[in-house]
Amino acid sequence: MRLSRYFLPVLKENPSEAQVASHRLMLRAGMIKQQAAGIYSWLPLGWRVLRNVERIVHEEQQRAGHLPVLMPTIQPGELWQESGRDNSYGPEMLRITDRQGRKMLYGPTNEEMITDIFRAHASSYKELPLTLYHIQWKFRDEIRPRFGVMRGREFLMKDGYTFDLTREDAMIAYDRHMVAYLRTYERMGLTAIPMRADSGPIGGDDTHEFLVLAETGESEVMYDSAVTDLRLGDRRVDYDDAAQLRAICEEWTRPYARTDETHDVATFERQVPEARRRLSRGIEVGQIFYFGTKYSEPMGATVQGPDGKPVPVHMGSHGIGVSRLVGAIIEASHDDKGIVWPEGVTPFHCGIVNLRAGDGACDAAAAALEEGLAALGLEALHDDRDERAGTKFATMDLIGLPWRITVGPRGIKGGVVELTSRRTGESEELPPAEALAKVA
Ligand code: ATP
Ligand code: MG
Ligand code: MG
Ligand code: MG
Repeated sequence: MRLSRYFLPVLKENPSEAQVASHRLMLRAGMIKQQAAGIYSWLPLGWRVLRNVERIVHEEQQRAGHLPVLMPTIQPGELWQESGRDNSYGPEMLRITDRQGRKMLYGPTNEEMITDIFRAHASSYKELPLTLYHIQWKFRDEIRPRFGVMRGREFLMKDGYTFDLTREDAMIAYDRHMVAYLRTYERMGLTAIPMRADSGPIGGDDTHEFLVLAETGESEVMYDSAVTDLRLGDRRVDYDDAAQLRAICEEWTRPYARTDETHDVATFERQVPEARRRLSRGIEVGQIFYFGTKYSEPMGATVQGPDGKPVPVHMGSHGIGVSRLVGAIIEASHDDKGIVWPEGVTPFHCGIVNLRAGDGACDAAAAALEEGLAALGLEALHDDRDERAGTKFATMDLIGLPWRITVGPRGIKGGVVELTSRRTGESEELPPAEALAKVA
């Protein structure tokens, strides 16, 4: 992509409304534009990152055997009357009346609708286990939308719903989600720690939130530092092997890690040696939740069990904050010059800075690099503008692509370009072919 043909409305000044680094950097890098409190447009650069995050979520969900669907953003109010949540959900729900006077709402979550789909089409235990998920915009009229896309009112969420015959089966689905989430966040370059969360009036220890450590996080977290050393890496996961899933979940949940809602000082001090005790803050990027028959019972979502009798299905709901993740990744990975994208989500793989746009040899070398990267399946953002070198470098640092290749007249005469790593800041001069090989 040629920068001269791109739309990258970079801001020179720090926007005064932004209180946290990710919000400031997303505005400065021309990724988003606010349209109303907590409601954003995604501009070309932001859109690319959002789509990358979404793609990783899709791939890991489908790897775990979960089936993608797409439910609407607008829901009929009756479903929420059936579940009883119409009264309890409160002012976070945006209620709408259509021209016929019917009560509608912009979905803040989809338990009711998925239960409605299930009861309409599933009838036998033989159709279980089943996991349906979608990635769709949600609306919650948050009392304090802030931190840009991290606490928006309209936001993109992956929400998946599991249907099982028994509690035991539902807990296998729970484990499967935990493992799929660990892989998902790792691919985004994040350390997201599963923490025991509060399941509210239902009780039990069957909900975990996934938190990315960050000083600007809204949750207080207490954990054993040993948990941050765990990595799935390239371990082979067999999602049909319940024992393997359980073992992985145990590995991650054995070290103490809780939010302030479930924190217990005595347990913390008993279980964790003093040197490994950490008090910090975190950003909730996902949550898994087993809630049994909370919706299947009132809404009549039953299947015929092996003995022929109808049984309400055991359900769970499992969310990932797709748009929040874009902000969380930046909170976890930036420096004073700008964003430092992890390879998995970067909007472009490599930047090409042509220091002498208009010079035949430089133009040809830069174009050849762009083509060479494309042949490797890697997209480059090629700064072919007639701008000062300082401006071009500052833009590249701000938008945070993992690699930069600089093409200048002096180097080209000697047959070399400069390759710079955004993360380490280290540069080296190399022939173009070697630079390509390093970047790939
Ligand atoms: P929070 O505690 O931050 O309000 P939540 O617990 O209400 O989040 P869930 O119902 O668990 O949210 O939704 C699943 C995921 O959706 C959350 O883990 C979070 O990553 C994301 N999410 C929730 N609310 C917002 C929001 N207002 N803006 C962006 N993402 C959100
Ligand atoms: Mg909330
Ligand atoms: Mg929460
Ligand atoms: Mg939550």
